[in-house]
Amino acid sequence: MTNPNTSIYIHIPFCKHRCAYCDFNTYAGQEDSIPAYVQALINEIEFVGHRTEQMNVHTVFFGGGTPSLLSAPQFDSILRALRSAFTFTADAEISIEANPGTISPEKLNAIRKSGINRISFGVQSANTEELRMLERIHDFFTVIEAVSTARKAGFDNLNLDLIYGLPEQTLASWQTTLQRIVDLHPEHISAYALTLEHGTPFGRWSSKGLLPLPDPDLAAEMYEYAEEFLEANGYVHYEISNWAKKEF
Ligand code: SF4
Repeated sequence: MTNPNTSIYIHIPFCKHRCAYCDFNTYAGQEDSIPAYVQALINEIEFVGHRTEQMNVHTVFFGGGTPSLLSAPQFDSILRALRSAFTFTADAEISIEANPGTISPEKLNAIRKSGINRISFGVQSANTEELRMLERIHDFFTVIEAVSTARKAGFDNLNLDLIYGLPEQTLASWQTTLQRIVDLHPEHISAYALTLEHGTPFGRWSSKGLLPLPDPDLAAEMYEYAEEFLEANGYVHYEISNWAKKEF
């Protein structure tokens, strides 16, 4: 029996730098382990593929961490293992999360050829100071470059991820971020409220009173503004933190 509409999530737990607010399962400075991790993934895909009923895979999502740290041949070998272990639908959506500071035209061309057809860029903000405070390794010019490089490589399905409710963020700076994001015409936009997680530098700084806490009322105002603004710009609010163009 074939199971309809199966989705596969592949976690890539490596980052160049650990951002101060992040509590995801990811490790910085361990890129030497990537080849062994990729081989372990392939072994597991083969193991699971042999032991499950036939599955019709319609989405694959590489999340992280920073999946874009993998090379094109590494994506290629994981996708070959997936395609031989499972049945893919003809229009399967294969996404990767990417840090705008970790891509090149060569890499995007090669991963597009290997079958990856959607990229989710972790943008977070268009404001230089806010990006610096979040300890992101990119600036907004890198984002503009990354979107243009992805379009040239043939990606016609892009998501841009944002965070609002940042310490010292103003409504005006959030409005500017949203306008700059819409100007890049992504097919999909995600916007998440910052949460201060236990065990992160942000969590520690805020418990010592060193981080100006985001005002919840202001964060709510930012959310309401995003709802109105994105809808006025043709995005459908289909889930709490996610907006998409109608056909996406
Ligand atoms: S790049 Fe993303 S996953 Fe990696 S540390 Fe920063 S927020 Fe976390």
